[in-house]
Amino acid sequence: MIIAIDGSAASGKGTLAKQLAAHFGLSHLDTGALYRAVGLQLLNVGKNPKNINEYQCVKLCFELDITLTKNPLIRSEKVAEMASVVAAMPAVRLALLDLQRQFAAAPPNPNGAVLDGRDIGTLVLPDADIKFFIDADIHIRAGRRTKELLQLGQSVMFPDVLTDMQERDTRDRSRSASPLRPADDAIIIDTSKMDVDAVMTLALSHVIAYSG
Ligand code: C5P
Repeated sequence: MIIAIDGSAASGKGTLAKQLAAHFGLSHLDTGALYRAVGLQLLNVGKNPKNINEYQCVKLCFELDITLTKNPLIRSEKVAEMASVVAAMPAVRLALLDLQRQFAAAPPNPNGAVLDGRDIGTLVLPDADIKFFIDADIHIRAGRRTKELLQLGQSVMFPDVLTDMQERDTRDRSRSASPLRPADDAIIIDTSKMDVDAVMTLALSHVIAYSG
């Protein structure tokens, strides 16, 4: 079984992906971590969103140190911003496409895979068995992200997180290469007024209905 989960930042898509993977014994790929890893590598060599070029970013994708996707340093707002700038480059998206498709085609767990990101249902895996699109009010998402970052020991303030998230949302939704949007056949879930358990229960009911 292949499940595609797309959605906005801090919408709850990552949590849902992990829970569904654990429930059904599926492999999970957080595709945002790939873009973040590229972003972190660029920041590490002194780059900023204004002085990067597409060629250099694509080269990094092909040489990507995959262990960076597990590095807690990718979870900062600075890296998130760099990731979203890099992710708007069509050649970067193309360079990371095969890796994502190969993971879904031969997941470590033979039961299947859950991939979460921005364009999984629309472009990476258009034939996924089930597609979810997860979204929530931006103020609620920024509140969640502020809490998460504070728990990680980062010193952040809600207004700054909100501004960064608004910029990132605009960039992710308006870029020409794979903009964030629900696939036509995606199940849309607004998590603004739902807790983690309620989202999982709802998603689970859809997967069970699909599996018959
Ligand atoms: O999901 P996460 O917030 O970690 O993603 C970081 C950034 O990577 C997003 O803002 C988005 O620009 C980019 N991304 C993407 N396509 C994906 C996953 C993430 O463009 N499939």
